[in-house]
Amino acid sequence: MPLDAHALLTARAAQLNADYGDSTPEAILGAAIRNAKIGDIAFVSSFGAESVVLLHMLSRVDPTVPVLFLETGMLFPETLAYQSTVAETLGLTDIRILRPDSTDLFLHDPEGDLHQRDPDTCCALRKTKPLELALQAFDAVVTGRKRHQTGDRAAMQVFEVDAGKLRINPLASWTPQDIAAYMDAHDLPRHPLVAQGFASIGCAPCTTKVAPGEDPRAGRWRGRVKTECGIHFSGGRVWPANR
Ligand code: SF4
Repeated sequence: MPLDAHALLTARAAQLNADYGDSTPEAILGAAIRNAKIGDIAFVSSFGAESVVLLHMLSRVDPTVPVLFLETGMLFPETLAYQSTVAETLGLTDIRILRPDSTDLFLHDPEGDLHQRDPDTCCALRKTKPLELALQAFDAVVTGRKRHQTGDRAAMQVFEVDAGKLRINPLASWTPQDIAAYMDAHDLPRHPLVAQGFASIGCAPCTTKVAPGEDPRAGRWRGRVKTECGIHFSGGRVWPANR
C-alpha cells in the first residue's frame, strides 16, 4: 500500500474513532454499515463461543452483509452445526464459506498433521490465505476481538488499519460479563461445546477445555507460544509458497 494511502486510511480510522469509538457496539455497526461511507464491509466470524453476540447485532442492522466463515477442515462438527443454526435463527442471508486451497493441502499437509509440525504454516494455508483472498473484494472487515483477550489486543482501537483495510472491532471494550448478559437478554443459542468446558473454540486439534478461572484463550494452542492464528495482525503471515 503506498505510504500516502496508508496515512490517509490511518487518519480516517482516527476520525472514525473520534466520531464513534465510544458508541455502543450496535451503534458502531450501524454507523459503519449505513452512515460512514466506508465502502464494502465483510464480517469475519468463527461461529465460536461468543460469535453470536455480534452476529445478532448484525442481523438487526443489516442481515445481508457478507459473513466470512473459515471452514479450515479442522473444525469441530459441533461448530459446523452451530454455524447453520445461528445463520438460520438470525436470518443472516450471505454466509460465505472459505476453504483452504486443495493444492496447498495436497502439497503441504497431505496427512493432515501440519498443525503438529508447523502450526503457523497450518494457520497460514487454512486460515490466512483463504481469508486474504476473500477480503480482496472488501474495503473493511468487522471482527469480534476484545481488549480483555490475551495476545496483543489490550491496546486495540475500535477502528484500526490492517493490511491496507479498515478493521472494525465493535466489541473492543466489552467484558465477558457484557457478553453473557447480552446472550441472556436476547436468549441467543449457545455453542454446544461451551457447556462442556470450551471457552474459546477454534480448530479441534488446537483447542482444549479450560479450567474454572483460567483465561478463556488458554485452551487455544495449549503448551505452545502461539496465541493468534495470524488473521488478525499484519506481519505474521507465512505462505506455504514462500517456504
Ligand atoms: Fe491448523 Fe490448528 Fe491453525 Fe487450525 S488452529 S489452522 S488446525 S494450526
